[in-house]
Amino acid sequence: MNDLSARLQAIRDRISAAADRCGRDPAAIDLLAVSKTFPVEMIREAVEAGQLLFGENKVQEVLAKAPQLPANVAWHLIGHLQSNKVRKILPLVQCIHSIDSLDLARQVDRIAAELGLFPKVFLEVNLASESTKHGFSPEALRSSLEPLYAFKRLEVQGLMCIPPYDADPTQSRPYFIRLCQLRDELEQLGGAPLPQLSMGMSHDFEIAIEEGATIVRVGSALFGERTYLNAA
Ligand SMILES: *Cc1c(COP(=O)(O)O)cnc(C)c1O
Repeated sequence: MNDLSARLQAIRDRISAAADRCGRDPAAIDLLAVSKTFPVEMIREAVEAGQLLFGENKVQEVLAKAPQLPANVAWHLIGHLQSNKVRKILPLVQCIHSIDSLDLARQVDRIAAELGLFPKVFLEVNLASESTKHGFSPEALRSSLEPLYAFKRLEVQGLMCIPPYDADPTQSRPYFIRLCQLRDELEQLGGAPLPQLSMGMSHDFEIAIEEGATIVRVGSALFGERTYLNAA
């Protein structure tokens, strides 16, 4: 067994163990392998080891990588999406985790209609009001729910967050709890289910699972440390 397939198995085992600890079904938790900055060869190895769900944060990188990989690979966009790139990315991704404004939602809805698509989306929430991060504030999301649900092309799956980084992963727990509570509140308010929570990364995915994550976004724990050629 090569390194990557061993690391993949180790992460799957940790997902199952975390689910077992809190009485959840491990099959209800998807692993999104975050392959940003890593070469197609490594993604191919992961595909051969049975991983078919990959996350990228840049449109250009999906455009470059997707055509080189089998068609049964599913791509999720997890990084901020500029409205002038919506038309390019929509046909290539199955899901966008980073719908971070009403304007972007409107644009995705409009172009999806033109292209005949129904993209799955997550609404990104900036829980700590960090100026360096994108996302709706909880208040903005409450008041945007009605217009968001009027966009008939968007299949809203649920909420996504990226807590402030802290070397101690337990510091993420209060944010995961808040995202889950906000989800419950918005389900009441909007009268529509928001079944999915996209939360948890390499250092804190087990805690995210304990707090209800349905999809964890794991990069470096799987592929190794990233080196950025240009400051990203
Ligand atoms: C890079 C990235 C990840 C994965 O981060 P790791 O710490 O490498 O697991 C998850 N989510 C988003 C939005 C990212 O940009």
